[in-house]
Order: sequence, then structure tokens, then C-alpha cells
Amino acid sequence: MLGPPGAGKGTQAQLLAEWLRIPHVASGDPFRENLRNETALGLQAKQYTDTGELVPDAVTIAMVAERLSRRDCGNGVLLDGFPRTIRQAEALDEMLAERGRAINLVPYIRVRDETLLERLAGRWTCRECEAAYHGVFKPPQRGGICDECGGEIYQRPDDTPETQKHRIEVYFEQTSPLIAYYRNRSLLAEIDGEQTIEVVQQDLRAAIEAVRQSREKGQTV
Ligand code: AMP
Repeated sequence: MLGPPGAGKGTQAQLLAEWLRIPHVASGDPFRENLRNETALGLQAKQYTDTGELVPDAVTIAMVAERLSRRDCGNGVLLDGFPRTIRQAEALDEMLAERGRAINLVPYIRVRDETLLERLAGRWTCRECEAAYHGVFKPPQRGGICDECGGEIYQRPDDTPETQKHRIEVYFEQTSPLIAYYRNRSLLAEIDGEQTIEVVQQDLRAAIEAVRQSREKGQTV
């Protein structure tokens, strides 16, 4: 799942993974989990996550490789927030090739810059399950409590206006080249992220169905 910070990747990926019945692997989650547990990796990553910089490729790639080797990934995964650099994309290709797997589709959620800042400014996250909320667009049903798991909802420390702006800059410099990388391989599905959560989700599912149908046709021909 590709798109700038604030495009709605987390919200959409969670819904899509439930529909596809595959794990939602968000690369930011293990960093936050390690930080909560005060592990060496967590402390190493903190200097980057706190300022909106990318964690070095080698650390991130090793972490994702470990996650993909777990049993629950056997039927596929929905990756959210990884890859974020060309180097990571190449490493992902290698990891998948080793397992006889490949990328089926790269949904790219496209959103205007002004919308990103508006969305990030109101963003809240569940401390327990990382579900995403928004003060205006997606408030929880009970104030401060996660609808999914009852956990406490908080504002991430990297959701301050300065870090948000920096994360968007980092995205344009280091991650946006992936749009061309996947477009050139005919894997990109562009989705208009300015629509409501429900309509974006419908468009994502339609893009996946289209891939499924073209594969089935390919198999019968
Ligand atoms: P996210 O929850 O996806 O917004 O990620 C939060 C932070 O974790 C980012 O600002 C980065 O510091 C770090 N991070 C997450 N995914 C990656 C990645 N693929 N490569 C490098 N750093 C990452």
C-alpha cells in the first residue's frame, strides 16, 4: 500500500486485510512496539521515528524479513508503510523471489498536499492495537476509547506539526520514486484518496477484483 503520510493507508489497509483475510503488516508498528518494550531496536529506532526520518534500510529490511517469515504470512500479506525506499523495494523483491512469491498489486492512494496536513493534524491512534482515528473524519464511538479493542487513544509523538511536515518531505524525496518503480512494472493501481473512507475501500476492492479476474482469465486461456 503506497501513499503519503495522512493518505489513509492504515485505515484502508486494516479494512482491506480483514476482507482479504490476510495479516496487515504495518512497518511502523514493530518500531513502536519495540519502543514500548524498551528493546535495543526500539531505542535505536526512536531517534528516527521521533523526528520523522526513515529508520536505516538494513534495520527495517531485517525487521520486515523476520515478520514475513512467520507462519501467519503463508497466504499472503498486506504491506503498509513498506517499502519506503527503492533499496527496500529491491530487498522485498528478493525476499519474495526466495519464497517463490511476488507482488500482486500496489495500490497507491493519491491525496492533495493540503488534505494531508489537515488529516495528520487530527490524527489519533490506539495505544494497544494501533487502529487509526481522526477527531473530525473518524472519531471513536466513545471518547478516548478504541472501538476495536477498548484501548486508550493517544496522539503519536511524531504527529506534531513539525514532524508531520518533515515526514511529508521525506516521503516526496525517498518514497515517491516508488510510484514510477511500480508503474513501470504495471503493478500500480491509482486510487483517489480524497473520497470517503467507504468509497476508497470500494475502489481498492474493485482494483483487487480486477487483478483476480485477469489472472483467472489468463489461467483458462
Ligand atoms: P508509520 O507508522 O508508517 O507512519 O511509521 C512511523 C515511523 O516508523 C516512520 O516515520 C519511520 O521513522 C519508521 N518507519 C516505518 N516504516 C519504515 C520503513 N519502511 N522504512 C524506514 N522507516 C520506517
